[in-house]
Amino acid sequence: MNPLVAIVGRPNVGKSALFNRLAGRRIAIVHDQPGVTRDRLNAVCKLGNQPFEIIDTGGIIATTNDQFDAAVRIEADIAMATAHIILFVVDGTAGFSPADQELAKLLRRADKPVLLLVNKIDHPNRDELEDAFQHLGFVVFPISAEHNRGISTVIQRIEALLPAVEEGEMTTANVPIKVALVGRPNVGKSSLINALMNDQRTIVSSIAGTTRDAIDIPYEREGIQYLLIDTAGIRHKSKQDSSVEIFSVMRSEKTIRRADLCVLVLDASAGLTTQDKKIAGLIQKAEKPCIVVINKSDLLDESGKQARRDYLQMLGEELFFLDHAPRALVSAKMGARIDDLFKQIDRVVKQSREPMSTGPLNRLLKQALTLHSPPAVGNRRLKIYYATRIDDKRRDIIPVPRFLLFVNKPDALTPTYEKYLENQIRKHTPYEGLPVIFKLREREHTTPGPV
Ligand code: GDP
Repeated sequence: MNPLVAIVGRPNVGKSALFNRLAGRRIAIVHDQPGVTRDRLNAVCKLGNQPFEIIDTGGIIATTNDQFDAAVRIEADIAMATAHIILFVVDGTAGFSPADQELAKLLRRADKPVLLLVNKIDHPNRDELEDAFQHLGFVVFPISAEHNRGISTVIQRIEALLPAVEEGEMTTANVPIKVALVGRPNVGKSSLINALMNDQRTIVSSIAGTTRDAIDIPYEREGIQYLLIDTAGIRHKSKQDSSVEIFSVMRSEKTIRRADLCVLVLDASAGLTTQDKKIAGLIQKAEKPCIVVINKSDLLDESGKQARRDYLQMLGEELFFLDHAPRALVSAKMGARIDDLFKQIDRVVKQSREPMSTGPLNRLLKQALTLHSPPAVGNRRLKIYYATRIDDKRRDIIPVPRFLLFVNKPDALTPTYEKYLENQIRKHTPYEGLPVIFKLREREHTTPGPV
């Protein structure tokens, strides 16, 4: 993901002209018109050495004339929450206005760099400018977006401030993927690991809860490093004791939290038990990438194709909350289709890194809202002002897609509507094996008070 630079300012100072200039577009005569939400909020600026994404906040909120100030405030807020650098644009010919003052007060609270761009300076008259705007406490740049003056200086400054976003990124080339094989006792986790290792590193036994030692196993396959984590069984000898199963769930919880990806192992010959569902629920709660492995599929194969279909259908119904998780039918005993599991892991890793830039995301959500309007909750309907993806490739090797939504009323998002939005996003990028997470921020868009 490119670093984000937000353009903020009151109407008519030339935000869209600057946006177009940075986006390298032909400059159309642009005015900030009330009630007009611009089509394109985002673009990539490639004028310097390092590309960065720009957002014109002036298009986020559709307003009527008398709501401008409130809208600008929300837009500035969104910029402060999401951008790395803020370009605060004022009109050099109009001089300093109370609305600028208000905005300056807001932006001074930002914990990120703010550059003050004094626009419409078509001739150099720097001294006067310094006087008029210097007192705001920001670094001042005189520019003319329309006549392309001062723009390269601004770009240089932005580049100097940009975080080295791509540096230090976690990739499968430099970090092993922590894979947890979780499942209730006797589904064949150890057998699976044995099949993977092709040696006797773990003990396989038909007695549930055989004592084994906790162990993380480093594992390499086709040049990719994995760490199979906490693959120990249950330190318990009695198989009558139901605490074995309860303990196994508690143990899974810890393992799941440590994992980059969870492989939920099920037993094809046993149907889906409450314990299976509990562990599946823990994976969902921990918001972890997941693949469902149906082990002992040799037993299904014996019963024929219908048995396989029935099993998968039953799974679809019972594990509906993990319906994004790919399924792999394997047989640890026969060593069959183990490769499928790794192909699936690879797909999940790739999908997690599929870009979803702010522009397409916002268009997609806007379309979704138009297509099927949100239900009224109380006397309010959900409004989404702006959305952006907030997960971090530097922190997570398999970043789970997380979207920050700026909305009028978080309570107005019903679970059904949330699922609908999730599905719309998955139509664009399937994000197989990954939960899609929405975080909501409330932004009240009320009629303005005195500015
Ligand atoms: P764990 O408790 O989940 O680690 O399960 P184990 O690996 O100890 O396996 C439990 C039992 O299932 C053992 O008797 C295995 O031989 C058997 N088992 C494991 N995988 C398969 C398989 O793919 N097919 C069949 N038919 N049996 C299996």
